[in-house]
Amino acid sequence: MTAPIRTCLGCRGRFAKYELVRLVWNNNEGAVVVDAKQVMPGRGCYVHPGCADQVSRRKLLGRALRRTVDGEQAAAVLAALAASATQSPA
Ligand SMILES: [Zn+2]
Repeated sequence: MTAPIRTCLGCRGRFAKYELVRLVWNNNEGAVVVDAKQVMPGRGCYVHPGCADQVSRRKLLGRALRRTVDGEQAAAVLAALAASATQSPA
C-alpha cells in the first residue's frame, strides 16, 4: 500500500497527498477554493499549509491552475491556509 504522492506547489517537495491541502479552481464561483476532501473536479494543485505564504508571495497559483486568478482572492485563501497551519502544526 502506497499513498498517492503529490508535489507541493510551494517547496516542490513530494509528499503523501493527505499531508497537503488541495486547492482547485471552482468554475461556479470563479474563484480558488480549498478542496478539503480532495475530490472536487477541475484542475487542482497541492500546497502545504506552511508553504501557503510563499505560494502567495510568488503568485504561483495562477500558473499552477492555468487561470488568471484574482490576486487578492487567491491571497485570502492562502492566508487562511497559512493560518490553519499555525493552529495545528503537523
Ligand atoms: Zn511545501
